[in-house]
Amino acid sequence: MKLTFWGAAKQVTGSMHMLTLDNGYKILVDCGLNYEQKRNMTEDTFSFPFNPTDIDVVILTHAHIDHSGNLPALVHQGFNGHILCTPATADLTKYLLFDSANIQWQEYKQKLNRAGKNRRKNVPKPAYIEKHVKETIDKMVTLHFNKRFELNEFATIELIEAGHLLGAASVVIEVKKGNDIKRIGFTGDLGRDHAEIIRTPTPMTDIDYLISETTYGGRKHKSSENSENELMKFIEDTCVRSRGRLIIPAFSVGRTQAIVHVLNKLHRTGQLPKVKVFVDSPLAVKTTHVYENYPYLLNKEASSFVKQFGSLFDFDELFWIEEMGAHDELMEYTDSCIIVSAAGMVEGGRIQEHVKNNIQNPFSTILIAGYCAEGTLGHRLLQGQKSIAIKGRDYPIYAKIASTDVFSSHPDKEEIFNYIKACDNKKLKKVFLVHGDEPNLIAMKQTLEESGLHAEVEIPDPQDVYTI
Ligand SMILES: [Zn+2]
Repeated sequence: MKLTFWGAAKQVTGSMHMLTLDNGYKILVDCGLNYEQKRNMTEDTFSFPFNPTDIDVVILTHAHIDHSGNLPALVHQGFNGHILCTPATADLTKYLLFDSANIQWQEYKQKLNRAGKNRRKNVPKPAYIEKHVKETIDKMVTLHFNKRFELNEFATIELIEAGHLLGAASVVIEVKKGNDIKRIGFTGDLGRDHAEIIRTPTPMTDIDYLISETTYGGRKHKSSENSENELMKFIEDTCVRSRGRLIIPAFSVGRTQAIVHVLNKLHRTGQLPKVKVFVDSPLAVKTTHVYENYPYLLNKEASSFVKQFGSLFDFDELFWIEEMGAHDELMEYTDSCIIVSAAGMVEGGRIQEHVKNNIQNPFSTILIAGYCAEGTLGHRLLQGQKSIAIKGRDYPIYAKIASTDVFSSHPDKEEIFNYIKACDNKKLKKVFLVHGDEPNLIAMKQTLEESGLHAEVEIPDPQDVYTI
């Protein structure tokens, strides 16, 4: 059989791997948005490096858009099989894809307006619209963790808890050919050893080939503090001492819930000062209740928190903001407060407005709490410049720009290493490192090779094909 690395090879985003069985049956693992090629997201220019009608089945590891974001385009271009994922992933993905279609539609409408009457027909249509998202959702079939599912007479799959996001899975594909059985494990995105709300990743056992994420393959997370103490440092500094505003860009799904839950814990233990907390993200408002629908996926601490306080998230002083009117009011709010808003990399979304609003205020802090791809506004903010361009206008930076990795939902180098070691036995032949930039991939390859790992370690190039 053949393993092809169509995406997230030598980069983080755009996860898309294909396993082609000897009889030609094609399994696509993830179909994510490639942030590096986002500008090509129009109906005319967007294309897959294979024929979508040839794919037999898609396995979706988790809801994040860099793993799920191109599924409606795949369906639009003719994919007609099932999309297999956990129930929580199906629920979260639905919201994320509608949001993605909506963003593309709004951009399209803006371009139409700018183009004027005569040139409107030249404005390229979005890669997909709401209708394609609906068709995508109709193709989803949900599977629970640790239950084998037969794809056909040669292949079964099993989803394993990846601990990265509610419902996130690693997947083991077992392929039989006569007496020969091969097990291929895709980690998807992994979580950390001590995540907020959800359980830790479960390593895959007895596998022959491992395709592992390597986002932080060369980095040790700096924050050894627990997340409550770490967040309190910023709250005290900004909201108590300076009476300023703490602005936290966060992905609507995963990061926002982790941060709000920590704020809730600080509130319940009487540590949170009397400041209002705003979550200004319609997508976060919609997806947060999904967390409450899956109590069986929560870790022990989160379960007992719910038993004691009734909710992981809600507390006095917390305000969820969905409507535009309420967002506009918040833009006028001048008291000390905490604002959590999306998008996480500060590329678009309401967070850009909050960053613009606070960037020249020396009492405000912008706290970057997640991975920011190169070229994004979040990444540029962290470069320590004196001014920054936002939507074509230069703003001097007087606010404090800070970062923390305590909310990272990806394992660091030690945690990835331990995970891979736990999968390694005499059976494991090869480890393919993906979903990382080159320095992180090379660092993890070195670490693994120096550790005396039994298996060979490969860093595939984009579009590389391996016969396994
Ligand atoms: Zn992810």
